[in-house]
Amino acid sequence: MTVYELEHLWRPEGFVSPAWVDVDASGYITTLGDSPPSARSERVAGVVVPGVPNLHSHAFQRAMAGLAEHRVGQDDFWSWRQAMYGFVERLGPEDVEAIAFQLYVEMLEAGYTSVGEFHYLHHDLGGEPYESPHELAERVVAAAHRAGIGITILPVLYAASGFDGSPPRAEQRRFATTPELVAREIEHLTRVWRTDPNVRVGLAPHSLRAVPPPALSEVLSAARAIDPRAPIHIHVAEQALEVEASVVARGRRPVEWLCDSHAVDSHWCLVHATHVTPAELSAIAQSGATVGLCPSTEANLGDGRAPVLAALAAGVPFGIGSDSHVSVSPTEELRLLEYVERLNLQQRNVLADELHPSTGARLFAAAVAGGARALGRPIGALTPGGRADWVVLDTDHPSLAEKPLERVLDAWVFCNHGSPVRDVMVGGSWVVRDGRHRERDAARSAFRSALARLRG
Ligand SMILES: [Zn+2]
Repeated sequence: MTVYELEHLWRPEGFVSPAWVDVDASGYITTLGDSPPSARSERVAGVVVPGVPNLHSHAFQRAMAGLAEHRVGQDDFWSWRQAMYGFVERLGPEDVEAIAFQLYVEMLEAGYTSVGEFHYLHHDLGGEPYESPHELAERVVAAAHRAGIGITILPVLYAASGFDGSPPRAEQRRFATTPELVAREIEHLTRVWRTDPNVRVGLAPHSLRAVPPPALSEVLSAARAIDPRAPIHIHVAEQALEVEASVVARGRRPVEWLCDSHAVDSHWCLVHATHVTPAELSAIAQSGATVGLCPSTEANLGDGRAPVLAALAAGVPFGIGSDSHVSVSPTEELRLLEYVERLNLQQRNVLADELHPSTGARLFAAAVAGGARALGRPIGALTPGGRADWVVLDTDHPSLAEKPLERVLDAWVFCNHGSPVRDVMVGGSWVVRDGRHRERDAARSAFRSALARLRG
């Protein structure tokens, strides 16, 4: 048991200054109070906030960030996807692990303490299972373990190349799975990692276009049989074309179809949900599902503008993800949510209101609560029973110095002058100190070697 004296602890209802927190040997917070304990404590200067859950990641895509910014004819999501398929042709298991390791180190240094890994790269270069069929999932979890980030690993079902149910195409061979294979992977990972409180296993049917209705029902029952509360993530309504194809194939829009056809509940995370009607937003709100917003990737891919203001008004919980990792910064994701609305409405502080006048605090509070719910782990709130996953903001940093406490989150989110993230703890262990991850050099060197191999 270690006791920490936190100079300023941020909670959605206000600051506790100071706060004393007991963390047990398994990395859980056991008590939290505002009076000094009898035991000796370690003092933590600055502002302590919950670590941010990053609810949507495709780790391998970190290595192609920056390589798809040259125009190729009519350039959109679909041409980007073709470039990504070309990249996937060359990735080996060692590359996958090295890329994920670098990415997770970057996430921790930026203030993310947990990740939802939407894991869809399963097979070898020829599309055949590896000798251990769970090779690549294990590589990704190993990278998370080494970096010290919490992970919800979500094996992906990818069973079709379109709404007509055609089988995956040649360039999708490394993703192609069946409900049975996915269930086996969930079972395997659950068995191997069941005693590690930093690991959770869920399920990700890739999207309605990649999972025909019978396969979706089958994989949901299989996952529910293994873990009735497992997180379930799905890409939905990211692209206008996908909405049109859904209407043609199923007579309904994607979110409409999903909420009508399945018992979508608070264990679900609808990733993107960019193209939704007010009726679909209220269906999501009623279901209790979280929406996974990935604004930097959605902007990069030209997906469309997510209806954040309408989602907030409808009471839809949301979290953020860095998805394709053109950016690995929780504050950039939050800032973009607000800025897109400002540009659209020609107003300021659009996502704040009378009850929540601080835009930064409102977005931050929503993202940590929604992210925790989506990842199915006791994170996102520094309370007894929760994981000791926190970020210490340096109040001497030029972005935060001499600011009143109630402006600190606004300054962190909106002042982009270098990161004030000084220290990061995950499950009771310090993984970042003075802005530097303990394995930064090792991660960079392995990443660089992987990039050199991939360049060939
Ligand atoms: Zn995605």
